[in-house]
Amino acid sequence: MPQEAHVYSYSAVLMGSPILLKLFQHNEHLAHQVFRLIKHYENLLTVNRSPSEVMNINHAAGLHPVVVNPAVYQLIKCAKSASLLPNSVFNLAIGPLVKCWKIGFQGSSVPPADEISTRLALTSPHQVILDDEQHSVFITQAGMELDLGAIAKGYIADRVRDFLHSQQVFQGLINLGGNVQTLGGASQMRGTPWSVGLKKPFAGPDDLIGVIEVEGKSVVTSGTYERWFEFAGKRYHHILDPRTGYPLDNELHSVTIVSEDSVDGDIWTTLIYGMGVEQGCACLANKPGIEAIFVTKDRRVVLSSQQLFTFTLQDSSYQLAPQGS
Ligand code: AMP
Ligand code: MG
Repeated sequence: MPQEAHVYSYSAVLMGSPILLKLFQHNEHLAHQVFRLIKHYENLLTVNRSPSEVMNINHAAGLHPVVVNPAVYQLIKCAKSASLLPNSVFNLAIGPLVKCWKIGFQGSSVPPADEISTRLALTSPHQVILDDEQHSVFITQAGMELDLGAIAKGYIADRVRDFLHSQQVFQGLINLGGNVQTLGGASQMRGTPWSVGLKKPFAGPDDLIGVIEVEGKSVVTSGTYERWFEFAGKRYHHILDPRTGYPLDNELHSVTIVSEDSVDGDIWTTLIYGMGVEQGCACLANKPGIEAIFVTKDRRVVLSSQQLFTFTLQDSSYQLAPQGS
């Protein structure tokens, strides 16, 4: 593409995911600073190894509050609010279930039903107590664990955007393992959007259903095809239903959210995935800053609205369906 001529790409593997940074200047130092920033937040937020601020909170479950860095505190507060929305399937305290399914990690298997129900009892977001003055987080019951996997990448993508802005960089793209945040457009000429692929579920890594075009917006997808395993002919994916303890199961393969901030996209993909097409569209009808692209198991692509992006269908085995059909 001609507009790509002056784009410089930098890549790394962080947070267990491929990271891609695109800039309009050859600046390895800046790219290095961006990757260092991502690593910094990963070290605060990870629940896959100690130490991290979130691991410190988890280790103190049932024992005492833990004072955390203000950014971590705000993120946990935001994750708790999302978890307490009416009928929310987002749950920041889903950790014990994520750990027992191990989806995306070695040794994933279907846990025994009694283990799932034991762990379900350890996932109430109400038992995550926040203290705004102290910036402390207290998980009241031993065995409970926070998991910020559904929100951390979005949050970090926004911090990268803010950092680039602080360095007077107003055009670029950061892709954190599928969480994309764009700055400006894709060319030094005005009005050239970035193209973000809408992935075809359970197909090759480069197989797309279509292309989403945005400028200065975030594009985040949660999909059943991202991390999964198969057992006895059934697929089990990594987004768990906090009401049942099993992977969420409805008509959807993926939800993509286009929004200003990637942290919103990261939260809303999970919330909207839990709602399904009809309820999801109804919910977003009065949220102009959050737009969804649903991919259904019966190969429909449904757009909740289309003010923030354009979408071009490329795979003719999919049908662009009107909202609510
Ligand atoms: P995402 O890639 O943003 O869809 O987030 C998926 C990750 O979030 C999983 O790998 C888990 O670590 C975590 N997770 C799984 N189910 C939930 C849930 N219902 N609410 C919040 N986080 C979840
Ligand atoms: Mg998410």
